[in-house]
Amino acid sequence: MSRPIDIIRSVFDGELLEQVPLARHTSLKVGGPADIFAIPRDIADLRNLVKILDELQIPRFVIGGGYNLLVRDGGFRGAAISLCKIQQMTVSKDGEVRAEAGVSTIGLARLAQAHGLSGLEFLIGIPGSIGGALRMNAGAHGGEIFDHLVSLELLDEDGVHTYDKKTFKYGYRCLQLEPNKIIIAAKFQLAAGSQEDICAEMDACLQKRRETQQVRFPNAGSFFRNPAGQAAWRLIDEAGLRGLTVGGAQVSEVHTNFLINRGGAQAADFLRLADIIKERVFNTSGVKLEEEVRITGED
Ligand SMILES: Cc1cc2nc3c(=O)[nH]c(=O)nc-3n(C[C@H](O)[C@H](O)[C@H](O)COP(=O)(O)OP(=O)(O)OC[C@H]3O[C@@H](n4cnc5c(N)ncnc54)[C@H](O)[C@@H]3O)c2cc1C
Repeated sequence: MSRPIDIIRSVFDGELLEQVPLARHTSLKVGGPADIFAIPRDIADLRNLVKILDELQIPRFVIGGGYNLLVRDGGFRGAAISLCKIQQMTVSKDGEVRAEAGVSTIGLARLAQAHGLSGLEFLIGIPGSIGGALRMNAGAHGGEIFDHLVSLELLDEDGVHTYDKKTFKYGYRCLQLEPNKIIIAAKFQLAAGSQEDICAEMDACLQKRRETQQVRFPNAGSFFRNPAGQAAWRLIDEAGLRGLTVGGAQVSEVHTNFLINRGGAQAADFLRLADIIKERVFNTSGVKLEEEVRITGED
C-alpha cells in the first residue's frame, strides 16, 4: 500500500518534506516537527495539494512567516503548507494593489512606497506574510491591514473565489474565517501620496519600534492581545513580572508583552510562562489576558 506522502507526491509538483522541525520556521524558535511540510509552486499546485490532503483526511494549516505562531513541542500531525512561492504583486493606475498571500508585508509596503501610494506605511515594521497579516488583521500605529482592503481571494472546496471586504467579520487582531479556508490574495485601494511623506512615515514607525522593542532575542511580537482600553504590557509590568523566567522563556525586560527565547527554550516553557502571567495579572488587576499568538500542534 502506498504511503500518504507518495500519494501526495503523485499529484503535487511543489517541494514536499517530511518531519520538518517547525522551530526553524517560527520566530520564537520553538516547536516540534510537522509530519509534512509542503511548498506549492503556484495556486494550481496548492489546489491539488489541498484536495489530496482533504481526501486523505490529513490535517493541514498554512504557515506564513511564523512571526505570530507558537507550535507545541510535539509538532503538528499533518501538513504545514507554506505559500512562500505564491507571491505576485500588481499595481494598477488607480492605486489598486493586488498582493498574493506569500508576499512579505515589508515587500508590499516598499512596493506601495515605490509607486507613491499611501496607506500601508505601518506594515514596514510588522514582519511576516500578507496571508498572515490578513489572518491576524495585523496593525500598528493606529492602522490595520483591513483599513485599505477591497477584497480577499480565498481557496474554497471548488476553487478560488473573491469576496468583498464587507462579507467578513473582523476586528482588533482578528478575522473570522473558517479554519480550513486559505487566503490566496488580497486587493487594496491606496491613495496617492508623496514618496517623501511615505518614507518619513515609515521611518517614524521604525524609529518608534527601535525605541520600544529592541528585545534582541527571538520573539513573536506582542504575546497577549491588549484588553479593551488597556495595554497588556502595563498589566504585566504592574503584576511585577518583568524578567520572569521559565526555562529558556522570559518576559522581556525591554517590553513586558514580548516573551523571548533566551536560548534553548521549549514551547512548554512559553506555555507555562503564559499561564503564570495570566494567573498573576488576573490576581492583581482582575483582567483576563488572552494570547494574540496563535498556538498549534500537540504537546
Ligand atoms: C518583532 C515583532 C513585531 C511585531 N509587531 C507586530 C505589530 O506591530 N502588529 C501586529 O499586528 N503584529 C505584529 N507582530 C506579529 C506578526 O508579525 C503578525 O501577526 C504577522 O501578521 C504574522 O504574519 P505571518 O505571516 O508570520 O503569520 P504566521 O505567524 O505564520 O501565521 C499567523 C496565523 O495566520 C495563519 N495564516 C497564515 N497565512 C495564512 C493564509 N494564507 N491563509 C489562512 N491563514 C493563514 C496561520 O495559520 C496562523 O494561524 C510582530 C511580530 C514580531 C516578531
